[in-house]
Amino acid sequence: MSATGSPYDFDLITIGAGSGGVRASRLSGAMGARVAIVEGTRVGGTCVLRGCVPKKLLVYGAHIAHDLEDAAGYGWTIDGARHDWPALIAAKNQELERLEGVYHRLLREAGVTLLEGRGTVVDAHTVAVDGKTYTAERILLAMGGWPTLPDIPGIEHAITSNEALDLKELPKRVTIVGGGFIAVEFAGIFNALGAEVTLVIRAANILRGFDEDVRQTLSHELEKSGITIRRDCQVRSIEKTPAGSYSIRYAMGEEAETDLVMYATGRAPNTANLGLEEAGVKLNERGAVLIDEALTTSVPSIFALGDVTDRITLTPVATAEGRCFAERQFNNRPLVMDYENVPSAVFSMPPIGTVGLTETQARQRFGAVDVYISRFKAMKHTLSGRDERTLMKLIVEKTSDKVVGAHMVGADAPEILQGVAIALKAGATKAHFDATIGIHPTSAEEFCTMREPLPEPDNAHTE
Ligand code: NDP
Repeated sequence: MSATGSPYDFDLITIGAGSGGVRASRLSGAMGARVAIVEGTRVGGTCVLRGCVPKKLLVYGAHIAHDLEDAAGYGWTIDGARHDWPALIAAKNQELERLEGVYHRLLREAGVTLLEGRGTVVDAHTVAVDGKTYTAERILLAMGGWPTLPDIPGIEHAITSNEALDLKELPKRVTIVGGGFIAVEFAGIFNALGAEVTLVIRAANILRGFDEDVRQTLSHELEKSGITIRRDCQVRSIEKTPAGSYSIRYAMGEEAETDLVMYATGRAPNTANLGLEEAGVKLNERGAVLIDEALTTSVPSIFALGDVTDRITLTPVATAEGRCFAERQFNNRPLVMDYENVPSAVFSMPPIGTVGLTETQARQRFGAVDVYISRFKAMKHTLSGRDERTLMKLIVEKTSDKVVGAHMVGADAPEILQGVAIALKAGATKAHFDATIGIHPTSAEEFCTMREPLPEPDNAHTE
């Protein structure tokens, strides 16, 4: 029995110090709970160490290549500009170390004990960390996810986004397999910094699940920027050549040579060999932890959040779940996560911002919808001469006039869509958008000036 009268070592043990686990732990700690967090590698998780943050820093670095090209149209002569890839990687790593330090400080300040090592679940109230056991009234599973690779001959030659963020040098030719968030983001980074990029997708287009106009616009922009997209294409095998490059054999039989093969074919929850099923925690067929709306697993004292539950695998969703968990468990406030209108962005070049339903989803859900589309060349590119078009799209439910979807491909789309997401969350109607005065001259103002819906299409996107 502890000094607090609890029969457990801790009130909460969290397994996994990523965004969701850290948020839940430090809020719980600040609310007075006795909390420990288990982490086998560095504190910070995918977002800080292997995902959102380092990727965005590389996107910034890559974007400067475009800015340098665009500068000429504004009267600048920039001679001798060269990019130093190792310098970018070193600067990025330094920033990650700083952020890791911030995470350590946040945990310390909330009184959270860091248990370093690999955590496994022994039973409903016990966690083992490298052979030593600790008990807790509640256990929170926040182990995140990890890239998955298909089992094809030579797959050991392929890297994932984990390694792509730490390449020693920028290869001349890069082949990226997959057409999701990660694939298109890295295609943009490598292409802008000068590599010859081929994106290999098994479907007819990139970004399954996104609005069709967004998919078409972005794939067209990627191709215009020099990225080759091989559609309806599967890799059969990869071989290393004597020269140190890689030979890719496609299912259709052709071969292609490349200097780097990167797979971005999805991620899977980190639930293997953790004692979960033995402890009674139910997983789905993809290995994701099943939870209810209170984030409780099939074991009442064990909870889960974030990518390990494989629902909306985005950092801000995991951190919001972390807050719900802490409030419900240690502050008597039964908050429930609201998964409607979660905005997201793809930091491709150009980027995407999106919130709400795609046109297809909206037609399926409501039948009749009005669709407003604007395509234009951003003002900046009148002088820069860059051949890049912006797409903005609103989807409005006819009877209520509510805006149920907003999508954009173009500069600053993620920044712009965050504000639009607030409007959708507040239930804004198209009349509200129309009554809002634009900020001139911006691209964003276009969301307030879309007057004419598209004519009803003969074959609306309903499949
Ligand atoms: P995604 O699920 O987004 O995309 C996976 C891609 O790989 C799809 O294009 C899929 O094709 C393809 N694929 C799957 N299996 C195979 C296979 N065996 N052979 C060939 N292609 C295959 O996964 P990502 O890895 O890009 O990202 C994982 C998650 O991480 C995202 O879903 C997102 O939630 C999150 N993320 C978010 C970011 C952001 O917010 N900006 C950035 C990066 C990641 P198909 O469409 O045909 O199934």
